[in-house]
Amino acid sequence: MAIIKDVKPKQKKEVLIPDRLKEFLTYVNSLILNKDEAATIPSDDLIQNDFASGGLEEENGNSYYFTYSPEEIARDEWKLRLDKETINKISQGTIKKLTLWGCAKNNCHNLFSNPKGTCSRCDYFDDKKPAKDKKLRKIREASNNKAEWLLNYFAIFPNSSPPQIIRDYNSDTALGAKWGSFTINEIVDKMKEIEKIFSTKNHKR
Ligand SMILES: [Zn+2]
Repeated sequence: MAIIKDVKPKQKKEVLIPDRLKEFLTYVNSLILNKDEAATIPSDDLIQNDFASGGLEEENGNSYYFTYSPEEIARDEWKLRLDKETINKISQGTIKKLTLWGCAKNNCHNLFSNPKGTCSRCDYFDDKKPAKDKKLRKIREASNNKAEWLLNYFAIFPNSSPPQIIRDYNSDTALGAKWGSFTINEIVDKMKEIEKIFSTKNHKR
């Protein structure tokens, strides 16, 4: 398995600054004005609350880097790089919108200040996965039920462990709905049956 980084082009998105981001940046602004160590020492986590964290980018620098979660569940993230003046204006309410960059995929709501930002969800992929998905699709198309699927699967992936088999079966969501899901015991039993079939075949040769 090799994880490949492939940063896809981002789309420009103008967003209204959510209240709780404004609240956080108002707090950041107060740290900056008070020359608090959290705002003067470079770090990536000295300034934080429940849904944002970050800090000064570099010594004597003017920019701060934050990761902000726009939802209660920290599923999406915004990677923000903001300078002191912008943070001040946001806390004063004179800046109400941010121009950010997002993925072209509709179901991804991660946003970045940097147009070349790397999305943890969309810009990495496993280079072995497309080839495996293709094989799994062929196995599905060649099978009429769970038992056949398992036989066809074994022909192509003879060394898979039962948990791996279940993962592969479940990764094709249409299958679980159509034929029901597998349990580990079911797989182990089927594996024994299949081994028998193969051993008798070899015996006859
Ligand atoms: Zn994305």
